[in-house]
Amino acid sequence: MSRTPIIAGNWKLHMNPEQTTEFVDAVKDKLPDPSKVESLICAPAVDLDALRKAAKGSNLHIGAENCYFEDEGAFTGETSPKVLKEMGMDYVIIGHSERRGYFHETDEDINKKAKAIFANGLKPIICCGESLETREANKQEDWVVGQIKAALDGLTADQVSSLVIAYEPIWAIGTGKTASSDQAEEMCKTIRETVKDLYNEETAENVRIQYGGSVKPANVKELMSKPDIDGGLVGGASLKPESYLELVNYQG
Ligand code: PEP
Repeated sequence: MSRTPIIAGNWKLHMNPEQTTEFVDAVKDKLPDPSKVESLICAPAVDLDALRKAAKGSNLHIGAENCYFEDEGAFTGETSPKVLKEMGMDYVIIGHSERRGYFHETDEDINKKAKAIFANGLKPIICCGESLETREANKQEDWVVGQIKAALDGLTADQVSSLVIAYEPIWAIGTGKTASSDQAEEMCKTIRETVKDLYNEETAENVRIQYGGSVKPANVKELMSKPDIDGGLVGGASLKPESYLELVNYQG
């Protein structure tokens, strides 16, 4: 088993093209060996052209924060996965709790997006995670397993082997409240077991599972020491070059 850790910045609705270029120029020569840690930035759609140009020739992987499940048509305001591929993107985040919550995305939408992303030769980062209410009712496992089953429905073992799942408890996103490394590990292990039940041992060993929720330089090492945590999906702490570099270079 050899899963390459993947640390991804999720810029959300921050940064403009100029700031994007400045950020990438500041980090691109200081990234870790990509065979040891994959460094990724997922940026708003309006910054992706600048991101691609600035990252060209470097070890920085690049991605979008969302896309639609159709390649083209009368879908005002949506982002085409086909064009994201043409623009040189590697990954697309889907199912972030902010999209599920504010934009009412359903498990079915997320499954359709995952299929469209693969159909265009991109890789999805599929987010899942429970609310505080669900955790307080001790129903977090059923909730997250349900989200994973729905998101992966109809995907092949090869596709699942190559995608990334991000476990992001909603109560830990942007709140400064990190899940303990044991809580994060427990759920990432459950997700891996779910993939094993749905597919097979090999697929479960291949799929990379990130933890997200107030990851920062001070806690990344501890989280990454857990056997089922293969990376981080990072919002706030990915916005400054110095902090992003500390995260991706957590191995020292
Ligand atoms: C996120 O953007 O997915 C996230 C986990 O944000 P933060 O790191 O700011 O909690």
